[in-house]
Amino acid sequence: MESALTARDRVGVQDFVLLENHTSEAAFMENLRKRFKENLIYTYIGSVLVSVNPYKDLEIYTKNHMERYRGVNFYEVSPHIYAVSDNSYRSMRTERKDQCILISGESGAGKTEASKKILQYYAVTCPASDQVETVKDRLLQSNPVLEAFGNAKTLRNDNSSRFGKYMDIQFDFKGAPVGGHILNYLLEKSRVVHQNHGERNFHIFYQLIEGAEEDLLRRLGLERNPQQYQYLVKGNCPKVSSINDRSDWKVVRKALSVVGFNEDEVEELLNIIASVLHLGNIQYGGEDSGNAYITTDTQIKYLARLLGVDGLVLKEALTHKKIIAKGEELKSPLNLEQAASARDALSKAVYGRTFTWLVNKINVSLAYRVTPHTYKNASVIGLLDIYGFEVFQHNSFEQFCINYCNEKLQQLFIELTLKSEQDEYEAEGITWEPVQYFNNKIICDLVEEKFKGIISILDEECLRPGDASDITFLEKLENTVGGHAHLTTHKLADGKTRKVMGREEFRLLHYAGEVNYNVNGFLDKNNDLLFRNLKEVMCMSDNKILTQCFDRAELKDNKRPETAATQFKTSLAKLMEILMSKEPSYVRCIKPNDAKQAGRFDEVLIRHQVKYLGLMENLRVRRAGFAYRRHYETFLQRYKSLCPETWPSWQGKLADGVSTLVKHLGYKPEEYKLGRSKIFIRFPKTLFATEDALET
Ligand code: ATP
Ligand code: MG
Repeated sequence: MESALTARDRVGVQDFVLLENHTSEAAFMENLRKRFKENLIYTYIGSVLVSVNPYKDLEIYTKNHMERYRGVNFYEVSPHIYAVSDNSYRSMRTERKDQCILISGESGAGKTEASKKILQYYAVTCPASDQVETVKDRLLQSNPVLEAFGNAKTLRNDNSSRFGKYMDIQFDFKGAPVGGHILNYLLEKSRVVHQNHGERNFHIFYQLIEGAEEDLLRRLGLERNPQQYQYLVKGNCPKVSSINDRSDWKVVRKALSVVGFNEDEVEELLNIIASVLHLGNIQYGGEDSGNAYITTDTQIKYLARLLGVDGLVLKEALTHKKIIAKGEELKSPLNLEQAASARDALSKAVYGRTFTWLVNKINVSLAYRVTPHTYKNASVIGLLDIYGFEVFQHNSFEQFCINYCNEKLQQLFIELTLKSEQDEYEAEGITWEPVQYFNNKIICDLVEEKFKGIISILDEECLRPGDASDITFLEKLENTVGGHAHLTTHKLADGKTRKVMGREEFRLLHYAGEVNYNVNGFLDKNNDLLFRNLKEVMCMSDNKILTQCFDRAELKDNKRPETAATQFKTSLAKLMEILMSKEPSYVRCIKPNDAKQAGRFDEVLIRHQVKYLGLMENLRVRRAGFAYRRHYETFLQRYKSLCPETWPSWQGKLADGVSTLVKHLGYKPEEYKLGRSKIFIRFPKTLFATEDALET
């Protein structure tokens, strides 16, 4: 007895629900700290998994560990990401309902690592056949490819996801993974041409330069020195101690072929990556206000060859702009600044579209093929791994989009775990003491509302001809939503706030904290335009990837494309619909310190995350609530054989049948409640015992 007590003292409780003082934040923190010190990084709040990034390799992801969690009830083993994976898998199998696992937390908290562990768990533990082995390999190998092209070193995380990713894993009726599909969200394209101090461009550039064989580099016209490339020197950070670009290159090359790229496609892909580097090295000459001309002809030569375009046409397109007015083509020269930004716009467009092409290509390779052995009605488990909430010294349009995306995800969490849970008790007539929580819907609305949301105001400025600029956008924000409790601008701030805010900034009070956004570049990034003649050149390219990325039909279409923010908003709304249609599980990731160091538990930083993730409210709802609920009909159908009065069928009212059944099973009154259409069961162990009775 004593030793059990000491163990509990030492390692804490594995479910916060078991804490004696469950309303105390101090007790919550103490439990988290104890477990972290013992390398126990996982703890539950009911069925929600809280995970603290250990920043070191723990021996807890072996095949043995996977076996330990396979087919075992949640509460019989210690908390683990595998338990969540297994639980979703079994729910999908037994209840035939699509699942999703939502992983959230700020940048560097461990979301991407968690999603990889889940995928590995399915790859190892799910039934397999020859065909399935290929699918499993492709699912696993899609990760290094997408990370090479979509992740980068930031100040927050050496392997930060710079795109959002939602992946469906499809399973056949036997529970074998048979396919997958990825949806990608807004890649941070601006990183291609600019990185803040201490940050890098996307990994693939460094991998190529460090890892490629000599003759490949020669063919691409590249040197083995990242410092030679303008697009790689902005952050002054060519090497990262935790990253080995050379060995990663080998991994990525192999992954590309597993995922289904043939040699020609790899060649075309690398031609594009090298072209972006050459584009970055194009330099312009000319007076500030005069016409720009290109001073570096070697790059043009390489570009012409690698992209398969006419060098002279490209050169002209990089120094002139062409517009069609009243059916006539007008060409006007660009000045230095305009030419440089046209060049950068081309690099961003080429890289961004290639990334989308890459995702589509992977999707083709993962596509679920119906064979005589598989049936069409596959069930899916969706995995959501997006870019986490982030705050830097300087925050721009990209952070605005990333943090908005995190607001939406937090909103979904609130909707599904706090709000809907409480709404259901009310609807079912179960007595209930409501738990108060902060609902961030007010911030989502501030960003996305029609007409007076920040995105609408930004779009309005983007479409307005004349003197619209980043500053007029800021002014419009002040005039329209200046009084909002979650938005401040320099002009509207009090004396104290004003000191810490720049004149060109607006501040949003996010659910996760305050962020100052500098409006510089908002209009351009939201417009995301590429001059017509640059599009034309790309349409002429004989690179097979680019011909798919730049479609001639686009040239005929004079309609203005939707702005970046609006596209993002629409795709997020669709994502929310997808997630709402599935049964969710949650992994809430916490970052233990800002130094990316093992063993450091920074109280202040962690308490802040516990607060904004709403974990205390989550715990309170959970403690007061019921772990399981089932419709009367489902419950009766499944367990009727356990009671002579309900077997083989119950003739009376369903509620009476369930009542008779559970009394026969010996449920105690405090263990359950009967609502209008469902039975609510307080503890999981009650339901597990009933399940076990079925098997005996
Ligand atoms: P972002 O939002 O920037 O993409 P993220 O939440 O996806 O961040 P990860 O890339 O998953 O963060 O984790 C950051 C780093 O933390 C990893 O590269 C790894 O070094 C470490 N890490 C995360 N989870 C674990 C784990 N379970 N075990 C060991 N190390 C981990
Ligand atoms: Mg990530």
